[in-house]
Amino acid sequence: MKFKFNDIANIKEIPKVNLLNLNLEKMRDFLKYIQEKPFRANQIMKWIYHHFCDDFSKMSNISKKLKNKLIKYSFINPPKFIQEKKSFDGTIKWSFLTNKKHVETVYIPEKNRATVCISSQIGCLLNCDFCYTGKMGFQKNLKVFEIIGQLWNVIKLFNEKNKIKKITNIVFMGMGEPLLNFKNIVMALNIILHDHGFNFSKHKVTLSTAGIVPLINKLNGLIDIKLAISLHASNNKIRNRLMPINKKYNIQSVLESANNYLKNSKANKGKITIEYVMLDKVNDSLKNAEELAVILKNIPSKVNLIPWNSFPESVYNTSTASNIVHFSKILTKRKIFNTIRKNRGKDIYAACGQLNNNFKI
Ligand code: SAH
Repeated sequence: MKFKFNDIANIKEIPKVNLLNLNLEKMRDFLKYIQEKPFRANQIMKWIYHHFCDDFSKMSNISKKLKNKLIKYSFINPPKFIQEKKSFDGTIKWSFLTNKKHVETVYIPEKNRATVCISSQIGCLLNCDFCYTGKMGFQKNLKVFEIIGQLWNVIKLFNEKNKIKKITNIVFMGMGEPLLNFKNIVMALNIILHDHGFNFSKHKVTLSTAGIVPLINKLNGLIDIKLAISLHASNNKIRNRLMPINKKYNIQSVLESANNYLKNSKANKGKITIEYVMLDKVNDSLKNAEELAVILKNIPSKVNLIPWNSFPESVYNTSTASNIVHFSKILTKRKIFNTIRKNRGKDIYAACGQLNNNFKI
């Protein structure tokens, strides 16, 4: 969003701006545009992201004149709450409406933390064969307000009703490939990390990517967050079959760019997360485990083994529990740190790769 610094008195009608689209820098530009002091941006950001206030009249340290201008030229509108589904394990999936489409967000409470899983797109372009979101095709890139509006809604709910546990972690593991919505994701991350914004620590924010190499490189040095790579295969032959994007950016190029990101990152504490979905008889053999240990030998990493979550009409099966444990043991023996992910919210189609805008299931 660009603001030109011409005299607004000469403009009869300007489109109203949703302030949830602006990071601090853009908020300052907007204030200059409406001929106000840019430093007021700090106050407005704090009202929005510390007090979750969407009513200008309640912003008590802001002058009447500025309030009136804000009412005239802006608004604070997150996507609207539509539906909620609760899992037996405490996971909650929400659907929010924006521009006639639904965005899905998942809340996952655990013993000492609670994570919000955010969507970056509606649908996905990448068409990974084992992912239900991929099967719905690509519908749209979410705007900044649609990305951070998900978090804003959830935290507001926590503040107001004290109904859910305090959010401690954020993961970009909902619908979509975050790096393919680069500009908006970077702006959203800016707001999430800034102390006048949501003020989350970079150690608590994870972006998961299928490995869009030039965009990992572009992120490198621009913004520091935890990076998770969806590897899911121990060689290019298997990865080509599971993830068509591998034909463009293969395992070696993805790992190289992740390793370079790691070198400039404090958020990752020296280890990149590697996600590996466990698919029965596809990528879960003992040979695959050995192969994985070899390709990760020179990359400081922690592997997250994800039991595959099923969805209708898929050709895959989840690896058996004993196979997953065996796979994990081989990695451990080869000194590759690894954990087995507990999949949450499967009964409400809220687990990894199950988001599909299908609230009927
Ligand atoms: N596009 C991003 C975010 C996707 S969702 C990415 O590819 O990383 C987060 C994780 O869930 C990814 O690792 C994704 O590959 C994985 N995933 C997708 N479908 C899944 C399924 N059915 N079961 C388990 N994990 C799945």
